[in-house]
Amino acid sequence: MSHINMSLTEAHDLALSCLITNGCDDVNARACADRMIEAEGDLCHSHGLFRLPWYVAGVRSGRVNGRAKPTVEQLAPAVIRVNGDRGYAPLGQKTAHQPLVDCARKNGIAALAFTNMFHIAAMWPEVEALARDGLCAIAVTPSYPYVAPAGGTKPLFGTNPMGFGWPRKDADPLVFDQASSSMARGEIQLAARDGRSVPETAGIGPDGVPSTDPNVILQGAQLGFGGYKGASLAMMVELIAGPLIGEFLSIESLEDDAGKGGPPKGGELIIALDPAMFGDAPGFLEHGEKLFGAILEQNGTRLPGARRFENRKLTAQQGIAIPNSLHQEILDLLA
Ligand code: NDP
Repeated sequence: MSHINMSLTEAHDLALSCLITNGCDDVNARACADRMIEAEGDLCHSHGLFRLPWYVAGVRSGRVNGRAKPTVEQLAPAVIRVNGDRGYAPLGQKTAHQPLVDCARKNGIAALAFTNMFHIAAMWPEVEALARDGLCAIAVTPSYPYVAPAGGTKPLFGTNPMGFGWPRKDADPLVFDQASSSMARGEIQLAARDGRSVPETAGIGPDGVPSTDPNVILQGAQLGFGGYKGASLAMMVELIAGPLIGEFLSIESLEDDAGKGGPPKGGELIIALDPAMFGDAPGFLEHGEKLFGAILEQNGTRLPGARRFENRKLTAQQGIAIPNSLHQEILDLLA
């Protein structure tokens, strides 16, 4: 596949103007472009410019509010709710960051319920930002029904990711962010686009038989990682980022889309904990480092998140490569 090279700034300008041309105001477009280019910069392409045509389709259809004004509401001393005003998630997330930090520092723990927003993408940006502010954080969200329940053959759960952030001493935070499915949906779509096969654990065809062909899996169902264990985690995410906060299950997000093919509307739950208020202060940072040191003593290990932080340094200098086909698609949307 042929590519075009761009600096991160050029890619950001492209995303920004494409979103503005297609109906977003500056503040919404900027928040989305920031998030997409952060993902490109970390070489997480499935949350980068690849999503731009999908985002444009959502705004053009009128389903997503490109001029959203998210509002923050205190539901209880340690519970905050953000109403995203039917916009894309990044602006709501940006609006909620400082209120969540303040609430966690005051109470030791705070929960943030994001509602009425579209496409809560990767979990790492929030948990990383919270960890950089010295907090420990957990974030989860449902999506569309892509994953079959254990033993079943029909998609029911989202690929429901879970992110975790932990502050570190004089180092980038410890961050992991993983789907509860064997593979993220975007990775299967990218494999289909690029003509690559996927591991047999990734999913099943409509006949329930495991397949390595991403196109067959896209017609059938994905599988949870580790079989029933991943399926149970996906179910937990459905509950705590769905009914708990008054938001959609993945199956309800798809019903709400009603065949328009836009990004999912739904919720996200973030729990932030201030380690300074949990009894191991001020030693918790050193204490955590003991674990990381013991992990890294073993050959063949690395910390989760380390790949992204290395990629970030590289792309800041070298820029990124965008497939020509995607670049042309974006130019067509700008025309
Ligand atoms: P991966 O399987 O690529 O990685 C999962 C985690 O494991 C990452 O934190 C990664 O760190 C870490 N990791 C990978 N290899 C190692 C290793 N050898 N040692 C230690 N840690 C390792 O992620 P997924 O494919 O499951 O998810 C990709 C993205 O898609 C996530 O950002 C997720 O939030 C998003 N997603 C979003 C959904 C949505 O509906 N919004 C649904 C599903 C997924 P590193 O990053 O450094 O490689």
